[in-house]
Amino acid sequence: MYKILSDSPRCFCMQAPTHILVGSILQQLFKGERLKPLRYFLLAIFAFLLHGIFDKMAKLTYHPPNANFADTFWVLYHLVVLLTTVVFIYVWGSEYAWGIIFSLLPDLDWLFIHGQKIAGVTVDFYNKPYLHNFLHFVIDNTFDAINQLPDFRFYEWSCLFEVALLFILIILLRSLEKRRRNIHF
Ligand SMILES: [Zn+2]
Repeated sequence: MYKILSDSPRCFCMQAPTHILVGSILQQLFKGERLKPLRYFLLAIFAFLLHGIFDKMAKLTYHPPNANFADTFWVLYHLVVLLTTVVFIYVWGSEYAWGIIFSLLPDLDWLFIHGQKIAGVTVDFYNKPYLHNFLHFVIDNTFDAINQLPDFRFYEWSCLFEVALLFILIILLRSLEKRRRNIHF
């Protein structure tokens, strides 16, 4: 029995730094593909799907569904996330621009939806997170086990999972870069 496409916006999203690193790793991985169109096609497909998989893992990390500007921890945490995003784009943005763009692409959903609320305008054709709903649909029907992950979104300490994940991804990216340099020289 297929699971249906969800209508409700489910804001289970990994933070941007995680997606930036995943996109960079993918671009580094596909650098060896000599056929340029295939390289970008693979990059786009994998970045899109992995965005969905990593968003599903966001249940393990600190991610209350609603913004709470009265909560000092919430504000500080999101300031650090914003700062980290800027630093990561500065460090990896030029080398892995396409990987990063493809990895962040589904989050255009939230830009449209929240942007409309902030601007006080309503665009009828974009009132649902279509890209995320599609990703949920694909993953729920192929890799449903990931939905069994425990829900730690409301625990502040669970942000450490995402911090640990960032370190692992940085180590992975650095080792891939090193390996490629050793192959070429
Ligand atoms: Zn997302």
